[in-house]
Amino acid sequence: MYLILLGPPGSGKGTQAERLCKELNLPHVASGDLFRDHLKRETELGVLAQNYMDKGHLVPDDVTIGMVKERLSRSDCRGGTILDGFPRTLAQAEALDSIFQELGQQLTGVLFIAVPDDVLIERLSGRRICRNCQTSFHILFSPPRELQTCDLCGGELYQRDDDQPDTIRARIKVYHKQTAPLIKYYQATDLLHEVDGNIDIDRVTDTLITVIGSLGP
Ligand code: AMP
Repeated sequence: MYLILLGPPGSGKGTQAERLCKELNLPHVASGDLFRDHLKRETELGVLAQNYMDKGHLVPDDVTIGMVKERLSRSDCRGGTILDGFPRTLAQAEALDSIFQELGQQLTGVLFIAVPDDVLIERLSGRRICRNCQTSFHILFSPPRELQTCDLCGGELYQRDDDQPDTIRARIKVYHKQTAPLIKYYQATDLLHEVDGNIDIDRVTDTLITVIGSLGP
């Protein structure tokens, strides 16, 4: 089962992808996490990506496509995967079609999580993430017991550099310009399923699981 989670930054793609991966026993391929991992290891790719990420811009297609292709070619993705944050441009969507073809795989469905812009800004500006286990909290909606400490592992919570107000606005603008056209792209192939992401987080998960259950082979 090869699924794409599509949606604006702050729509809950990452949280939902993690839950679905556990439920369906699939690897989670998140392009943002791959970039952050490169950044942490200070690889050449990480240094290049940082300039774009800090401004809320997209990393160039060729670099992003190469990185995700390498990840999808690994053996753990042979039985399926959940893609989160990729594709984000039409060029990436077309490249993904070719990657699937090359690897003899087929896209099962695209789940679009819809959330209005004002809600996105509120969600992203309150987001805090554990440095150690990457669990996500929100200072208002799902606060940790202690402000700077992860409830699960005791790790330090931090605010992503790109979750600052100016960068959030830039990311949402980029989303509307470059990523939203993918909705039409996947609608045309009958693969798109829209889910309301502006409801309780558990209900979003339940809806996604129901939709996935209805997808063909
Ligand atoms: P995310 O964790 O998905 O919000 O991604 C964080 C940042 O990584 C984005 O704002 C981009 O700078 C970069 N990034 C992640 N995925 C992609 C992608 N598919 N194409 C280009 N840049 C990306």
